[in-house]
Amino acid sequence: MGREDNPGLTPVIVKTALFLDYDGTLTPIVDHPDRARLGAVRKRFLRTLAQRPVVKIAIVSGRSLASVRKQVGLPGLIYIGNHGLEIMLGKRRVVVPAARRFAKTVRELKTVLHRGLPFPGVLIEDKGYTISVHYRKVHRRHLKSFRQAFFRAIAPWRKRIRVTAGKKVLELRPPGLWGKGRAVKWLLRQPQLRGYQPVYIGDDRTDEDAFRALRQRGLTLRVGLTSATAAQKCLPGISGVYRYLERYRQP
Ligand SMILES: [Mg+2]
Repeated sequence: MGREDNPGLTPVIVKTALFLDYDGTLTPIVDHPDRARLGAVRKRFLRTLAQRPVVKIAIVSGRSLASVRKQVGLPGLIYIGNHGLEIMLGKRRVVVPAARRFAKTVRELKTVLHRGLPFPGVLIEDKGYTISVHYRKVHRRHLKSFRQAFFRAIAPWRKRIRVTAGKKVLELRPPGLWGKGRAVKWLLRQPQLRGYQPVYIGDDRTDEDAFRALRQRGLTLRVGLTSATAAQKCLPGISGVYRYLERYRQP
């Protein structure tokens, strides 16, 4: 029996909000964060998905909002930067108050870190409301002293900052629990996303926060095969992410 004969069996189209981490999920992790560009084909693909009325795309990143918007370069998407502290929804830019208060500390920490970490290969990235210290290019034999120097440098602030670790990066963030998880939950309460089912895909420890936050609410997928995750399933790698997303291209 065709669908026309039985309108009661018209399939329900699920409106989906795709929350996609950027580095390591949509693009490979590279030596310098500025080089992690989205290729033309993948960019076009994401644009096609985002144009469907039943799909919303939110890019979730630890990068600053400005940086993640520049790297992705697609208008009309939702962007979450600085691990949830900055959000761009339509024309509205939201900065979490704790982040705003932290901006002065970020400037102080930046000076102290530049002085305290004289190791070749260290990259100190000022993201306005947080700082990332990348050590991917630091030689193995310097890693121990690098870590010691890092914690020595930040010691006076230790109680007023939150230190998190990602892939070859240490991050200094405002205290408190605001992270990718809370940002995603906040977004799901906004009128633009009402009725959308969340799917979250990420590759890093900072995404675990969102996996836990969405445990009861949506589908969570971790990039890379690991059992140490709160995500419901794993995807084998970045090409696996795009293969998975293909299902949202067609009704
Ligand atoms: Mg990532």
